Amino acid sequence: MHIHAIQTGTVAVRSRQREGHGHGALRLVNTLRDDRWTEPLPILAWLIEHPEGLIVVDTGETSRAEEEGYFPAWHPYYRLGLREWVRAEQEIGPQIERLGFSTGDVRRVVLTHLHTDHAGGIHHFPDSEILVSRTELEHASGTLGKLRGYLPHRWPDWFSPTPVDFDGTAFGPIGAAQPLTAAGDIVLVSTPGHTPGHMSVAVDLGEQLVILAGDASYTQQLMLDGTADGVTNDPGTATATLAALRSIAESRPTVYLPSHDPHSQERLVTLTEAPADRAAALTAPGVW
Ligand SMILES: [Zn+2]
Repeated sequence: MHIHAIQTGTVAVRSRQREGHGHGALRLVNTLRDDRWTEPLPILAWLIEHPEGLIVVDTGETSRAEEEGYFPAWHPYYRLGLREWVRAEQEIGPQIERLGFSTGDVRRVVLTHLHTDHAGGIHHFPDSEILVSRTELEHASGTLGKLRGYLPHRWPDWFSPTPVDFDGTAFGPIGAAQPLTAAGDIVLVSTPGHTPGHMSVAVDLGEQLVILAGDASYTQQLMLDGTADGVTNDPGTATATLAALRSIAESRPTVYLPSHDPHSQERLVTLTEAPADRAAALTAPGVW
């Protein structure tokens, strides 16, 4: 099994989106009123070469994000809270082809959640089975979905994902999970908080566990610190998820890879592909 990181451009958000501040609805107000921006952060997706077929986790952003009018101007988040830079050749489809694979050979696409920078490349996978948690799909659909900041009107006409309900499999302290592969080495894990139906993907490489964490936290450090982000409407659930992820990471060597952590790509390579460097990295506190 091999995991490729695919960076589909960059995104900047208000600093308080990455690290939330305040209580209740004030968190989002604080985020949008923040006059500081993060540096441009990677928008990551993942391609897993698995004996049961190619698996994609998240689809990144579309280059249409730079078109005038692509995002709804009436929505305060898009007006105040988001900047993105994506070129056509940075979309996930062309990048998979450049890696020597065909998007038509991707058997399954897992979406950690349906925010635009994770669902913006769905159109590259008309022939793949697409999996989203049922809670996320319901939360993101229709007018309410639009008000919540999703772009359901941008989903392809054929978009009809397989809803994931989680079959009661436990994954460490997390009671809602479901194996994705027949081999059981890739597991979908419910990690609500950033959104109510957010899920992460746990990949068991034997020697270490890789967690493709989506936006469960924006960086590894924020997971270790248990700091909820500034867009969740449920910081209590978010911090409980972060505590559960931390407890998993403390139970065995774990490579934790959020979608917008500037160090995710480096950690993936260092900790899964370069054993000599890994030994050194293991001695650094907070790496696992
Ligand atoms: Zn998100």
